[in-house]
Amino acid sequence: MRSATSKLLREREQNRKRVDSLLLDATVKFRDPGNGHDPDTEHSVRMNPNDPNRYQALETVTFKPGLSGSALDAAVGHEGSHVADAQDFVNAISPTGAMDQSKNLTAYQTELRAYMVTQSILASENVKLPYGNCAMGTPCMFGAGIMGAQVTQTINQLLANPANRYGTAPNYGVTPANPGPVLYPILTTPH
Ligand SMILES: [Zn+2]
Repeated sequence: MRSATSKLLREREQNRKRVDSLLLDATVKFRDPGNGHDPDTEHSVRMNPNDPNRYQALETVTFKPGLSGSALDAAVGHEGSHVADAQDFVNAISPTGAMDQSKNLTAYQTELRAYMVTQSILASENVKLPYGNCAMGTPCMFGAGIMGAQVTQTINQLLANPANRYGTAPNYGVTPANPGPVLYPILTTPH
């Protein structure tokens, strides 16, 4: 019993180190925010401490403590994609406050990109894992053997079902035609 617990703690510590080394520009937390919440990335913004004319994305990524192996690798890549999307938008804000709103991605756009990363990491590790429900209670499958148009189709089905996400940000239920909120809703008007 005791050795099982210490093995778990050791694994958790190794996972934490691995994730910290991969997500250099984000604050990383391992905690369960409650009721089966999924890994999540929260976006904020501040002045860049190294350049008073520039802004910087302030990202907080939360992982479930129990994630490990390929599921953790895929979650790191997925959340890392969200972090990169936020940084791309915020880093492009000019000293006068001009913004490129095409980089203020919608929920659909940033999730599509992030699940493409999920897919490619799982495929490269030659594993196939279920995420949420796609149709008639069948899980959405990503990874080995999922190819071509099937990838986008699976992602679209996953994102269209609001029940597939349990987080602090708005849940899914987004489609290309109804893409949901942007990364930074408060930064949509010039100032
Ligand atoms: Zn996501």
